[in-house]
Amino acid sequence: MPDRKTYVDQVSDAIAHLTGRRTLRCPAPGCTLRIRYRAVTPDEAGRLAALAHDHTRHHSTK
Ligand SMILES: [Zn+2]
Repeated sequence: MPDRKTYVDQVSDAIAHLTGRRTLRCPAPGCTLRIRYRAVTPDEAGRLAALAHDHTRHHSTK
């Protein structure tokens, strides 16, 4: 797949911004967790953000 973004991708991104779609990433080194969401309540967005930023909640350290 080419890296170049297509026009459709650019439009999708613009729409994503308009509709408030967000991508959350875990700050832990090497962790590739991403959570995508859109059109959620502020409460739900807060919960998702907390989950994404708390590495211990989605990564087992057995
Ligand atoms: Zn993580």
